[in-house]
Amino acid sequence: MSRTLSKDCIRPNTTPPQASPRGGVHIKRELLFIPGPVTVSAPVLESLRRPLIDHRGPAFAQLIERITHQLRPLFGTSGAIAILGSSGTGGMEAALVSLFSPGDRLLACPVGLFGLRFAEIARAYGCDVEILETEFGNALDPNRLAERLRADRKRQIDGILLTHNETSTGVQNDLAALSRGVADHGAMTLVDSVSGLGASDVRMDEWGFDAVVAASQKVLAAPPGVAMVALSDRAVDRLETSEVPSFYFNLRKALDFGALGQTPWTPPVSTLFAVETALDRYAAEGASNVWQRLASYAAAIRAGAQALGLDLFSRANAHSNTVVAVNIHSGIDFGAVLRTLREEYGMTLSGGQEHLRGKIFRIGTMGDLAQTDVIALLSAVEAVLTEAGMSVKKGSAAKAALEVFLRLEEPPIRGDARRTDGRRAAQTMAMPT
Ligand code: PMP
Repeated sequence: MSRTLSKDCIRPNTTPPQASPRGGVHIKRELLFIPGPVTVSAPVLESLRRPLIDHRGPAFAQLIERITHQLRPLFGTSGAIAILGSSGTGGMEAALVSLFSPGDRLLACPVGLFGLRFAEIARAYGCDVEILETEFGNALDPNRLAERLRADRKRQIDGILLTHNETSTGVQNDLAALSRGVADHGAMTLVDSVSGLGASDVRMDEWGFDAVVAASQKVLAAPPGVAMVALSDRAVDRLETSEVPSFYFNLRKALDFGALGQTPWTPPVSTLFAVETALDRYAAEGASNVWQRLASYAAAIRAGAQALGLDLFSRANAHSNTVVAVNIHSGIDFGAVLRTLREEYGMTLSGGQEHLRGKIFRIGTMGDLAQTDVIALLSAVEAVLTEAGMSVKKGSAAKAALEVFLRLEEPPIRGDARRTDGRRAAQTMAMPT
């Protein structure tokens, strides 16, 4: 705990004080607690200033090579990874159009709005999509998925669409458990891990997934603009047979150019510099330390919200470690609460999306945030809710969060102990709220 808790004194560990335009030193910064794009560290921002390079030249090929190498352990794959100049949705669309054909039968398993988006893209390209419904706030039940797939004795289902972490509801699916039912069936399985990759263990090869999609602006804490699609060997083979016409989002082209150290189209070179720096920082922290950091922030935010008398939207066994979804308390104008937090405290949170608008608000844990930022946020939320007329015990949110941090405080692990230390991170994530 190294920072002063005051809305005027919030300073990141990595950002030096700056000269204020009006003279003196300006140490306040805006904090994004939205679930992406996130607060980006100074070294990552700094890399955006590098002079541009030829995207058909050797330096770019080396950059792509280094990025791909750093991404492999995050996806848990030794296979192909396509790097696309697009947001996460482009990665989802690229995977769908490149692997399926019109009329293919897909089983979509949404647990929130981004899962529904995956299904919607597939329908837009003429796939026949069945929805396996899950009530929002819950994770997908691995037994229900396995049961539905077992019932498909004739193997009519060609593809399965899963979400790793559902940003709209603050829910994380148990990919390892889901993979068992999927492996028995054998259908091509696509996973949206846009807000999940890097936040917990993903073992794509071991779990038998065929395409996993991620994006630069979430856990990696780089600016938006780059999507990554990791592919299994059989997905790479399948790229030859898809009948959906595609041009820009064509993974076959992406892999062919990738083999030359290039992208088919002009790439967001500066964002890729930032992605490389972000991946270096990720590796230096160590994957299991990142998982633990995110899990502890999410647990602290949940504890803080509950101490304020607020209920969580996600169910107890389904909490995400990258986004916390909190039910809106009746009688309080939460639009005004979020506005005050943004305008007076420099802290931006998200509301709910679509039919969850006005029902929940969401707090992201990703990005260059310190424990003190989390405690400052909860103190600010408490102050604004008190002003808005909610009766809360003074200091209760910050205290609850601090207790979580102290309970979880352990000396950091040196280097990347990801494979051997998964159990400790898993225990942290499973911690009750
Ligand atoms: N899936 C999930 C789970 C997401 O959180 C998001 C972004 N919030 C997307 C897909 C879409 O990504 P993008 O906004 O980068 O297109």
